[in-house]
Amino acid sequence: MPEASSDRVIVFDTTLRDGEQAPGASMDLEQKLRVARALTALGVDVLEAGFPAASPGDYEAVAALARYIEGPTLCALARAHSDDIDRVTESLRPAQRKRCHVFLATSPIHRQFKLGLSTDEVVRRAVDAIRHARESFEDVEYSAEDAARTEPDFLCEVVESVIEAGATTVNIPDTVGYAIPSQFAGLIMHLRRRVRGIERIVLSVHCHDDLGLAVANTLAAVEAGARQVECTVNGIGERAGNCSLEEVVMALRTRADHFHLRTGIRTQELCAASRAVAKGSGFVVARNKAVVGQNAFAHEAGIHQHGVLSNALTYEIMRPEDVGFESSQLVLGKHSGRHLLRYRLEQLGYRLDDAQFERAFVEVKRLADHKKELHDGDVAAVVDVVLHGAAGSEART
Ligand code: MN
Repeated sequence: MPEASSDRVIVFDTTLRDGEQAPGASMDLEQKLRVARALTALGVDVLEAGFPAASPGDYEAVAALARYIEGPTLCALARAHSDDIDRVTESLRPAQRKRCHVFLATSPIHRQFKLGLSTDEVVRRAVDAIRHARESFEDVEYSAEDAARTEPDFLCEVVESVIEAGATTVNIPDTVGYAIPSQFAGLIMHLRRRVRGIERIVLSVHCHDDLGLAVANTLAAVEAGARQVECTVNGIGERAGNCSLEEVVMALRTRADHFHLRTGIRTQELCAASRAVAKGSGFVVARNKAVVGQNAFAHEAGIHQHGVLSNALTYEIMRPEDVGFESSQLVLGKHSGRHLLRYRLEQLGYRLDDAQFERAFVEVKRLADHKKELHDGDVAAVVDVVLHGAAGSEART
């Protein structure tokens, strides 16, 4: 069972379960295996492989991952019914390390309109399901679906009951992305103060990004004492998606001075995992996406380029190599300045005197007004014009 400690945060990846539930993100078995291998290389502690009762294809995918993936604890999801739990047991049979993840909603709106259950019935059903799961699993997680909209006192009662029944991880999901960081941290602290036995289990959070707060809520919960974060690569997932793995991991690492926490993630594999998930899911990563977007380490503004050329720390808080990029990218465009042009010309082997350089700089700015980005070929054409008055002749010295 993955061990949390006071300074170690367990990374629970649900790219292949919650992520794959995003409309349009379904993956076939081969794509899932490819993503699972990337997640294994990344070093996730728990890999949620799917929801075996959802469809025969999901069952087969979980069973295949249980056979072929070694390293992380493999997890599969079940509703709080014995049939669902038995499907999890069967599909995960070949796995070396495994976890059964049982969920049952606790919020008033879900109790009334989805489940038609009283509070007592919710507690009883959750306890029965956890006991049943514990017959086949040492490692059992319970998720109080829609916990963020549940009455805090009732949530305490449910959590205390499932701990007594044998749950080893208890997850507090913000299923609908409704929480606010300070309030969500308050809920985690309330549980830690009020629930008997809470110190025996790992407290987990699972946040959605409907208000763009999934990562912020997750970090606030970690500061309040949660020691498992549920997340997905590229933040894919239901609706606006889940807490993004790469963002939460790099926040913990980059601001270790603040959090004093660590994860087991090999961060230099983040870009590879991001690309594998983008390819498998068909969800393109936005250019300005934090940590793994194409522009995450790209600079076009002249003042920033000058800073990065003399010391990258002036405008970069992470090293591109630490997340799997080769290097920072300095883009020659209409916002860039003399320092970058001089650097690019040197890299390409051109030697221009001062007057030629100034003419080249004017020419580059003129060209950049019409073209978003200038490539090496454009620089060569500009040098040709400066040295020979026209494009097309030999310019390289
Ligand atoms: Mn979810």
